[in-house]
Amino acid sequence: MIRRASELLLLVSLGALWGWYADSTLWAVFGALLGSLIWSLLDHLRARRLLDWLNKAEASRAPEMSGVWRELTERNRKIIKKLEKKAQNSDARLEEFLAAIQSSPNGVVLLDAAGRIEWSNLTAAAHLGFDPQRDLGQSVRHLVRAPVFASYLAHADFGREIQIDGPGPRPSQPSQISLQIHPYGKKRKLMLTRDVTALQWAEAMRRDFVANVSHEIRTPLTVLSGFVETLQTIELEEADRVRYLALMSQQAQRMQTLVSDLLTFSRLEGSPPPGLGQWTDSEELLAQVLQEAQGLSQVLAQPVHDIRAVAAPAIWIAGAKTELLSALSNLLSNAVRYTPGGGQIVAGWRLRPDGWAEFFVTDTGPGISSEHLPRLTERFYRVDRSRSRETGGTGLGLAIVKHVAQRHGGLIDVQSVLGQGSTFVISLPPTRVRPHPLA
Ligand code: ADP
Repeated sequence: MIRRASELLLLVSLGALWGWYADSTLWAVFGALLGSLIWSLLDHLRARRLLDWLNKAEASRAPEMSGVWRELTERNRKIIKKLEKKAQNSDARLEEFLAAIQSSPNGVVLLDAAGRIEWSNLTAAAHLGFDPQRDLGQSVRHLVRAPVFASYLAHADFGREIQIDGPGPRPSQPSQISLQIHPYGKKRKLMLTRDVTALQWAEAMRRDFVANVSHEIRTPLTVLSGFVETLQTIELEEADRVRYLALMSQQAQRMQTLVSDLLTFSRLEGSPPPGLGQWTDSEELLAQVLQEAQGLSQVLAQPVHDIRAVAAPAIWIAGAKTELLSALSNLLSNAVRYTPGGGQIVAGWRLRPDGWAEFFVTDTGPGISSEHLPRLTERFYRVDRSRSRETGGTGLGLAIVKHVAQRHGGLIDVQSVLGQGSTFVISLPPTRVRPHPLA
């Protein structure tokens, strides 16, 4: 303040001195006025500099000033610096927030009051098939063309979610996108999307499964209750009674097998994959399932099958023994059930050069035409329905084999020529294979 006053005084006195020296008192007054004018001009220029800087409000570019202007600049610089820090923090928080929404598995789109896209995460763009950068500012109505979406927007019935087709892996295979709009603020909208393709697929699978199981159980149950009613109401000859009871027992057995396969399934699905701690002799597994297959052949076939094992390398397999037995025995029992009596069945283990172990079963049965091969391991999928039923099949055998193979990190493969026979192979990865300790 003192400095400003002395500046003013200096200029006024210099002006007055110049006036007095030049001529008279009047000139001295004029000189003093000129001095004060120059002072206020200088002051105005400083104020202008300060205002120009305040307009840009960048703390780092504060002008060099003196006196009271310096203090004013310094105080403003501190306030601006504080605001800049606050703005930086808010920006960082916004970035983090957007990054979090970006990584969400759900799609998020912000729409302005006119329904234009203000912001969208990549997931929403992928769900709805637009470009999250290029299509910013576009009306969502023009980008999402599904009629159900247009009517949803038109009726503003946002209390429910709708489902539309999204861009799937192929045009014939669209994904299923669930979408809901939540209005907020001043006519703005938050649009959330979710890919429910897998969910719907699982739901369809569940429905199919329940329908299939019900169907599989209803048939023997109908037969059984029919026979029960007959036995209750009609006096039967002893021979008929024995025949009826045999048929009833067959149907009960069929239901039992189905329930047992279903339980195997639920055990497989409900337990963690088998570890590498339990090692089993491959020869032991083979011997056990071969014995079972021979027994089955004696019951089902006339003449019995020629069932052979091929000499194998001595190996141990890591995994759940009961599961492995169930998988191997399913393959062998299929070979017995579908190959006409007298046919040849060969089974065994072999070690591939890449370290994988394979269990194979080859038969001289009817073979399977190629269009059925990709679907063989689906639950309840049967090629020869009547042969399957006649021989006590549930349609779950190969699905169980596939499940067991996958739980052990392995695969199931089928090669078949119609009219000539089939070869089923389970391959297990090297981590689950080691040489027999005594070999
Ligand atoms: P199923 O209990 O009906 O045998 P699977 O899942 O074990 O069910 O087999 C599915 C279908 O694959 C069978 O219904 C049968 O038509 C066919 N199949 C399986 N193994 C053989 C085989 N070795 N030879 C011919 N067809 C077979």
